[in-house]
Amino acid sequence: MPTTTPTPPDADHRAAFRAFVLDQAEVWHRAHLGRLYEQWDSWNAAYFGGQLVPPYVLLTPPESPRAFGDCANISSFGGRCQIRIRPSLLTGTHPHVRKGDPYAEGRFRIVADVLLHESIHQYHMEITGQNEDSYHGHGPAFALVCNQIGQALSLPPVRSMKKRGPDKDLPSCAQWPLNVRPHDYYLCAYKPHDQAEPDAAGDAEPACDEADPTGAGDPLAALLDQVLADLDAGQVARARATVAAIRAQLTE
Ligand SMILES: [Zn+2]
Repeated sequence: MPTTTPTPPDADHRAAFRAFVLDQAEVWHRAHLGRLYEQWDSWNAAYFGGQLVPPYVLLTPPESPRAFGDCANISSFGGRCQIRIRPSLLTGTHPHVRKGDPYAEGRFRIVADVLLHESIHQYHMEITGQNEDSYHGHGPAFALVCNQIGQALSLPPVRSMKKRGPDKDLPSCAQWPLNVRPHDYYLCAYKPHDQAEPDAAGDAEPACDEADPTGAGDPLAALLDQVLADLDAGQVARARATVAAIRAQLTE
């Protein structure tokens, strides 16, 4: 990891963009982007040595119709690092998420994981220069950082997007970390591909509510279990955020 990194030419503008979002954006954007930038800050400190400059984070559809998010070295207005996250994942209209307020916190976790994935693309674009174009960005260098962060998060390892060599049986880093999170991490809000397709059969994971022996699919019970697990793990900030989400549901 390099010890000095050239500051991007638009660093001041990116800081001003973030300040606008946190202080003056419309309420919905301010709430969600504010939480996302807070998470991004913690990852920058914990996993990237504080080397990254805040990206432009936009709640807007990415270029590929199937992607949950993307990261562009050049933004749509000619600035640098632009991260787009599909807003239907948050609002609940995306076919791979569950609708409704009880699943809002789980949907936020999905979106935060999309941002974590894109922050690794940012790291390679802006710090290492290892863009791995022949792998569409998901090569060995990308998988290596996924696995470094994954170790800290107790997630199983992934491979590059090309299925070859001794790691060929591992999951691909192209969907990391959504494809390696424990099934209850998203609080029953996530419906991976084979669960979302009514005609898909065979090797699908059990649906969240079927696999949850205590909550029986009750999202409130799942949220409360998550608070206890987070407190046991010393994840006080995350537990507080979940309690706030529960409170918001109860007072509606
Ligand atoms: Zn990617």
